Amino acid sequence: MTIISNDRTTIDSDLVVDGVHLIGGDWVSAAAGETIDVINPANRQLIARVPRGTADDVEAAVQAAEQAFPAWRDLNATERGRLLFRWADLIEQNAEALDELERQEVGRPSWGPLGTPRQLRFIAGQADKVQGVSLPTYSPDTLGFTLREPYGVVGGIIPWNAPGPMFVTEVGAAIAAGNTMVMKPAEDAPLTPLAMAKLALEAGIPPGVINVVTGYGTEAGAALPAHPRIRRMGFTGSPQTGALVMEACARNLTPLHLELGGKSPQVIFSDADLDAAVPAIVAGITLNTGQICAAGSRVVVDRRIHAEVVDRLAAQMQTVTVGPWHEPVNMGPLINAKQHARVLGYIELGKEAGAEVVTGGVAPTGDRFGDGFFVAPTLFDKVDPDMRIAQEEIFGPVLSVIPVDDEQEAIRVANGTDYGLVASVWTRDLGTAVRMSRALQAGQVAVNTALGAPAIGAPFGGYKNSGFGRTMGADSVLDWTQVKTVSMREAASLGR
Ligand code: NAD
Repeated sequence: MTIISNDRTTIDSDLVVDGVHLIGGDWVSAAAGETIDVINPANRQLIARVPRGTADDVEAAVQAAEQAFPAWRDLNATERGRLLFRWADLIEQNAEALDELERQEVGRPSWGPLGTPRQLRFIAGQADKVQGVSLPTYSPDTLGFTLREPYGVVGGIIPWNAPGPMFVTEVGAAIAAGNTMVMKPAEDAPLTPLAMAKLALEAGIPPGVINVVTGYGTEAGAALPAHPRIRRMGFTGSPQTGALVMEACARNLTPLHLELGGKSPQVIFSDADLDAAVPAIVAGITLNTGQICAAGSRVVVDRRIHAEVVDRLAAQMQTVTVGPWHEPVNMGPLINAKQHARVLGYIELGKEAGAEVVTGGVAPTGDRFGDGFFVAPTLFDKVDPDMRIAQEEIFGPVLSVIPVDDEQEAIRVANGTDYGLVASVWTRDLGTAVRMSRALQAGQVAVNTALGAPAIGAPFGGYKNSGFGRTMGADSVLDWTQVKTVSMREAASLGR
């Protein structure tokens, strides 16, 4: 166990080992021996190093997963589920340490108890509910049925914004179905996934079932979908990278699902409960510094209440406290210099296009912000639906207000981007809620709530360029299986 040092800005955790990743149950350095620095985005200080994996590490991990596959596939499904439940228990027992680890690498303040154990328990409960169907047959001496079988060795690539939950969501469903897996976490936030994998081993999930290769996207990341013996892929990240992963999969005819970005609308009707809507909308765009795929980044509001909504949103935004991860603030920094430049660049684009900054619009200054990648929560009014700030995913705490005249215009504007991940509607009218739920092109529609559906086992995924496939729901386990039809004829009847 290596601890780099023990002050507030470096990792002090029993859950991570410096400089190694996980292949076949062994914690090893990169084949090429190189490492990547993981920094705290609040002050740019080094918190740990992880291996800079390449195609050689991916090959080693695929081999380890291949070795582990037959026994894991043949383990009875209830036992596989039991091991996943144990993994969830260990995650719960280590919740505080995991939260602290994720907070340091992502730079976010505390969110309190995480939903990861309950999400994993939902998936664990699906392990022995993977069922085929019986098929009618043309003659009574024949049986027909389907089996759902795992693919074999599968791969997953995840982003940095919620590394723990992403890791568990992808891995949990894939291994519940009997696959073994190679995961490539993001280079900016690989520590929580490594810690989660360590707990999986401690829970008794056999070596080689979960392998974690750290590294850059263009190196270890690109090698994973390009590997010919990866039988299925899951990718979560930007649409641009998703297209590259899909291209690589196409060359090997590897099936995949894509969980991509969003430009989610918050549609506010004139009868909405603004006391509920405004805090939820501001929390939704400032949580994780707006770096959430589902973040509601466009407020599409009835023109009659437009001015009141802008005033209230601005007042609420001004209550959001900003600072480093270990302080009791609402919002931390952005993840890295590139993301910082991107968000500030979009703010400039918005101003140049004629949108009005109501609050924020700057990087805060002062000692406590030091070298961190901070940006103030920003509210734009007078946004035209065609402006780039209203069309493109900013992935920062930037909210755009677009007034509309009626329901039809609200639908046109809400659906008027390339994305379709999540949409919220704020209204007291049941008819409006029903019509909007049908009309909105999004993988999840939430009425009178901001961040996705609080329903248990809710499938999550996108329409349009937000991707395809669904994670988190019961079907997510089925997604990691392939269907085999078996027709079985009584031997004695042959030749009759
Ligand atoms: P990204 O696409 O840059 O990176 C995601 C992952 O892909 C990282 O692990 C990265 O190393 C890897 N990668 C980069 N280039 C690669 C390549 N050529 N081949 C293979 N892998 C490569 O995304 P990001 O900046 O880390 O994350 C932000 C994006 O993720 C946003 O668009 C956000 O909306 C999206 N996201 C979507 C969901 C969802 O569930 N729909 C959840 C979280 C984030």
